[in-house]
Amino acid sequence: MSGNAKRVQAIQHITSRQPLPVTPSQPLESLWASDVFTLNKMKASLPKDIFKSLKKTIEAGDQLDVSIANVVAVAMKDWAISKGAMYYAHVFYPLTNLSAEKHDGFISVQSDGTVISEFSGKVLVQGEPDGSSFPNGGIRSTFEARGYTAWDVTSPAYIMTTDNGATLCIPTVFVSWTGEALDKKTPLLRANHAMNTAAQRVLSLLGHTDIAPVNSSCGAEQEYFLVDANFVNSRPDLLLAGRTLFGAPPAKGQQFDDHYFGAIPERVQVFMQDVEEQLYRLGIPAKTRHNEVAPGQFEIAPVFEAANVATDHQQLLMTVLKNTAKRHGLVCLLHEKPFKGVNGSGKHVNWSVGNATQGNLLDPGSTPHSNSQFLLFCAAVIRGVHKYGPVLRAAIATASNDHRLGANEAPPAIMSVYLGSQLDNVFEQIKNGEINSSLNAGVMDLGLNTLPVFDKDAGDRNRTSPFAFTGNRFEFRAVGSGQSVAGPLVVMNTMLADSLNWLADEMEAELAKGTALDAVILGVLKTIADKHGAVVFGGNGYSAEWHKMAVEERGLLNLRTGADALPVLKEAYVEELFDRLGVLTPVELASRFEIYAEQYILAIEVEAKLVVSMAKTAIYPAAMSYLSALSATFTGLKGLGVELDTGSLTKVSGLVDTLMASVEKLTAAIAQHDFATPEEHMQFCAKTIRPLMDEVRLSADALEGEVADELWPFPTYQEMLFIK
Ligand code: ADP
Ligand code: MG
Repeated sequence: MSGNAKRVQAIQHITSRQPLPVTPSQPLESLWASDVFTLNKMKASLPKDIFKSLKKTIEAGDQLDVSIANVVAVAMKDWAISKGAMYYAHVFYPLTNLSAEKHDGFISVQSDGTVISEFSGKVLVQGEPDGSSFPNGGIRSTFEARGYTAWDVTSPAYIMTTDNGATLCIPTVFVSWTGEALDKKTPLLRANHAMNTAAQRVLSLLGHTDIAPVNSSCGAEQEYFLVDANFVNSRPDLLLAGRTLFGAPPAKGQQFDDHYFGAIPERVQVFMQDVEEQLYRLGIPAKTRHNEVAPGQFEIAPVFEAANVATDHQQLLMTVLKNTAKRHGLVCLLHEKPFKGVNGSGKHVNWSVGNATQGNLLDPGSTPHSNSQFLLFCAAVIRGVHKYGPVLRAAIATASNDHRLGANEAPPAIMSVYLGSQLDNVFEQIKNGEINSSLNAGVMDLGLNTLPVFDKDAGDRNRTSPFAFTGNRFEFRAVGSGQSVAGPLVVMNTMLADSLNWLADEMEAELAKGTALDAVILGVLKTIADKHGAVVFGGNGYSAEWHKMAVEERGLLNLRTGADALPVLKEAYVEELFDRLGVLTPVELASRFEIYAEQYILAIEVEAKLVVSMAKTAIYPAAMSYLSALSATFTGLKGLGVELDTGSLTKVSGLVDTLMASVEKLTAAIAQHDFATPEEHMQFCAKTIRPLMDEVRLSADALEGEVADELWPFPTYQEMLFIK
């Protein structure tokens, strides 16, 4: 096949394809959670006392009593078999942002040669997937490579149905034989626990006597691109790196804004309905769908759930998106920046904390009493972001997210908090210590004589802030589209736990001196406003002035790249934080740094190698074919006495020369391997390899604008973004 034959074929495929029919959907009520072993199903199939004990475990998040595990296992197996499953899998979440699973059959061969289906409590509760090839950052030496999975009772088991059959899936934690966390779920459960303990202390000090367990909640908005599979298959960069490493900008980009919230293309709508039906079966409450800013970009957002369950559901949602896209002849790109010059994809993580008795603790509420409580929790978050902003930044540090942060489409790499003007004003007043009880009309009483009142509606929105208060929750907007939300949630819950413990310590000390509760609350709020107010910013986060002011006047860090941000995980204060709160031991934290640094380096190296090979084996030959065709034409015409300007020949040959010179430089850089530390290697990737990749791309994209279209080997941006 030569030149653009593959492209032509791809377009032919697309224009002649028959869309998948929309499957007639069942009513939502019968679809909902039909593939989940829900509490209701357990209640129906388990003896009363066993169900009660299990429910208690689920609500308290404790380990399961093994004596009841056998009974639960049998009920679960019977249900799974009734749904057509013959296999079960412990699903776990290694440090790769993906989900992993090992399948085992229910089959058990008997001594007389017959088989029965079997599933004991022991295998329900614990599995041994080995998993020695998952990244462990030096925790497991290869001779003791065993890892164990243990059932997380707080996240329900479900049936995953694919074209290859149905499997009973059991969400688990993944730990080494010495008990160290090798996954993303374990620290999330621990961070939640730490936050709960700290929140209970503060709530007690406020006089509550009935305090249900406090949990964090998460609602994640997932952005993604859909591109026809025929195009992806002829682009090695999309296939292997998930983003385009070459490609000239299309004549029509997103500047018309005609895609955003526009009518969803028919083929995509069929895809979305298919996705949603599967999500409903899995008990994932998909709620909103719409076109995003860029052509070919979409968003799906489920309703929020408990953070641990929401995290598992996020992983499942990404899997469902990818698998379903395949069935529809599409590829779902979850990469943060698939197309240069076109908006990238993020995942807004909406987060709050609350419980059954006091409700959402970040909701200003309508009763005077809950307002001082709200202010304390809100202030605790502000303190957390100020003290641990760099850790938040590190939690979203990936090679792919580097393309978005600070690029005028996503928040900057500087972590600041947006409160909205009214809440801003409240904290300003707290800082000044001169608080009026009536700030403006139509506002609420805070319940403390000396505290101001404020409007319930957060109203104004600021899209340029990485961490914004949005009425009854915070929204962390800098998370990457392809990332697990576990990491950010671990940091948010941990920093909040730290702040709430600090608050409780301070308040206990003041109360012991006999100070009145109102004054104590005002005092701690003022301390936070004074010491940590620098992190609050309501202006334009994209502006150059903010970048300067944040760093020079406010002392905030601007960790531009993942290479700058990941080493934060090695700082002593970070190690102390995670260790003190029982979220990650120093060994676990160190292993995480090793793994994330390695992933950062690997991602960039893979891309760099792809750049070299695509430039040498596809772009260079296309340009040379064009050159030889051009020169033959010029010579032929000259023979006929027609002398044309050969400027195009000179231009293309010049570009070919610079292209190949850049390729040589990049090749030499890739060959460098003597780095003293991963930090040094990451910096080399960010500061040397990446700019060299850009240099190659510059010539290649210029060539795309010169070389005859029929010779160009790769589908163009306009084809990939606009042909569906
Ligand atoms: P927007 O696009 O304006 O940010 P969306 O409605 O698309 O808003 O998404 C908001 C997300 O925030 C949804 O997933 C929603 O369920 C979630 N959310 C709402 N309240 C809470 C809360 N208390 N805790 C966590 N997430 C929440
Ligand atoms: Mg949002």
